[in-house]
Amino acid sequence: MSKVDAMRALKDARLAEQRKAVVAAGGARPAPAATARVATPAPAEVDTEGLCGHRNMGGRACTRATGHAEKSHRYG
Ligand SMILES: [Zn+2]
Repeated sequence: MSKVDAMRALKDARLAEQRKAVVAAGGARPAPAATARVATPAPAEVDTEGLCGHRNMGGRACTRATGHAEKSHRYG
């Protein structure tokens, strides 16, 4: 193997590593997005959407409509 061939082999090896890194980065890129989509939890208050949702001391959410005129909250 001549010195030039050795250099070329080294260069090829380096290129191959770079390509692998790009593929790894490219392959990893969609994964976090998918994970984030899955990991974004539906808020626990999702069933109170459109509702006041005010919590009483017992942790129960008000079931009246958002911005209800009634001064009191209705729980349960
Ligand atoms: Zn309320």
